Amino acid sequence: MTKKVIPLIDHRLLAPVLPTQLETPTGLIMDAAGRPLHDLRISVTDRCNFRCVYCMPREVFDKNYAFLPHTALLSFEEITRLAKLFIAHGVKKIRLTGGEPLLRKNIERLIEQLKRLRTPDGQDIDLTLTTNGSLLSKKAQSLKDAGLNRVTVSLDALDEVVFKHMNDADFPVADVLHGLDVAHQVGLGPIKVNMVVKRGVNDQEIIPMARYFKSSPFILRFIEYMDVGASNGWKMDEVVPSAEVVQRIQSIFPMTPLPANYTGETAQRWHYEDGGEAGLISSVTQAFCSDCSRARLSTEGKLYTCLFASEGHDLRALLRGVGSDAEISTVLGQLWRVRDDRYSELRTLNTDGLTPARKKVEMSYIGG
Ligand code: SAM
Ligand code: SF4
Ligand code: SF4
Repeated sequence: MTKKVIPLIDHRLLAPVLPTQLETPTGLIMDAAGRPLHDLRISVTDRCNFRCVYCMPREVFDKNYAFLPHTALLSFEEITRLAKLFIAHGVKKIRLTGGEPLLRKNIERLIEQLKRLRTPDGQDIDLTLTTNGSLLSKKAQSLKDAGLNRVTVSLDALDEVVFKHMNDADFPVADVLHGLDVAHQVGLGPIKVNMVVKRGVNDQEIIPMARYFKSSPFILRFIEYMDVGASNGWKMDEVVPSAEVVQRIQSIFPMTPLPANYTGETAQRWHYEDGGEAGLISSVTQAFCSDCSRARLSTEGKLYTCLFASEGHDLRALLRGVGSDAEISTVLGQLWRVRDDRYSELRTLNTDGLTPARKKVEMSYIGG
């Protein structure tokens, strides 16, 4: 059978350079380390109403910060077109993120469009969203009605002073807790709660957070503070290793480890002996790159194959240029096949916890 020859795509838009003859994509793909493409995280805005100290510190993300203009953002139609091509390559789960995704106007319309997509064998995709919870009580019902399956909500403390210090936007704890309750009532579950732990800032909240959430319908996950982006001034000694978090909780609430739900699950699951579950996400001390099946689409349509990548691949130029679906799909396949990212493993191997200086994109832009 003769292979279809697809016209050459502008090499300046892509790295690495592609061969001059591209094969028509055949569906499921593996990267250079044998990892499938399974998850797609889509950042729908680089803006946020919080200024979390570990993500968008106010000194950097101030009134002079140049956020993307609206014309730079992928439209909902462009996002849906790309999502369909990613799904043909094996994506089964899509997470909307940002920035704060609920700030994107009419996000429900995007959810409706994405929800209509099917995997090659006719299955629904798992459609989820990560939010800081500030607009959740208002939006939970419309998100559910649009077809969203579930949400993950970030909350770093129950103590008002500590939480306000973390979000640096004077946002109260009670509103996030209310958002969680409304999301639960409308059926956006199972709901996970993300707590980034920063030593000396909110680590005293580990036990109160564990106590509160172990008897709730929500699964709390403790996340190691990561060296994403270039603005949070990350230092290894501000990371509280998951092993220490477990030790601290064990001394009060005995827990036993649970098996993973599926390969590539980011959290290690623990079961409280008197009921309830917690998760530990140990991206710094126990990297999980060997199972990483996540691609990230930035707000302006760049594909990043790793949270710590220096460069993205400009898909928007293809979408707005002459790229046909077949061409863009071929490019996606090519980019995934050469993927060999394993930043966190390399960082973990480096005993002093420091990695060679490199340019990194901000998490609010690439999507967490
Ligand atoms: N604004 C939404 C939120 O906060 O849930 C979605 C975007 S946020 C970038 C996604 C997740 O990344 C949040 O749970 C946040 O806590 C986490 N995150 C941000 N910066 C981080 C860092 N330096 N280390 C670890 N997790 C981080
Ligand atoms: Fe905003 Fe989420 Fe980053 Fe906090 S973690 S600044 S809520 S994008
Ligand atoms: Fe995946 Fe990169 Fe994180 Fe490793 S460092 S788990 S490859 S996103």
